[in-house]
Amino acid sequence: MTIKRVTLDYGHGGDKPGASYAGVLEKDLNLQLGNKIYSALHELSEEQETLKVILTRDSDEDIPLGIRYQLINQYHKVHTIDLVASIHFNAAPSVPQAHGFEVYYLDGSVKGTAAATSIVQHVRQQDFYIRGRGYKTTAELGRQLAMIHKTTPPAVLIETAFLSNENDRLNAVNINWQNQMAQAIAQGIWAYLRSVNG
Ligand SMILES: [Zn+2]
Repeated sequence: MTIKRVTLDYGHGGDKPGASYAGVLEKDLNLQLGNKIYSALHELSEEQETLKVILTRDSDEDIPLGIRYQLINQYHKVHTIDLVASIHFNAAPSVPQAHGFEVYYLDGSVKGTAAATSIVQHVRQQDFYIRGRGYKTTAELGRQLAMIHKTTPPAVLIETAFLSNENDRLNAVNINWQNQMAQAIAQGIWAYLRSVNG
């Protein structure tokens, strides 16, 4: 029986809150949504022995990026990790109207592209607002992201919604919205994992 392995990386934590608007801290939402994705993935996999989820943090801790990607790369040398999914919320302080869901991946990565498009497709099916076509290479973004560029396995970074946008922020703290979003992201990740050979 093939074991599918996915790393869920909940962005920021501890002294590093990430984006912060109106008392809402990105690090807390990343952990809350991440825990829901974790649960949803286990429900989708049904037989849990076929799925192994590796976490880089599971509490309000500041784990430096360098430690996170070293852990991932060392683990990957022993047991192949099929996908790294880093969970974040976005912010555009100077563009408060910017909103919606977006996934980043490495240019030229066939598996990264497949994972990103699968996640976007499932999130779109649940009628969430997708920013542009929803998936974007880090070259198109114009930034290198450690969890994508420093990690050996295929990786995506999910920007779930904009905390700098009032409507997105109200959604992001809503438990029903979180549940539905987590379910959609988990479905996209699981569909990708099932499509991976070996
Ligand atoms: Zn972030």
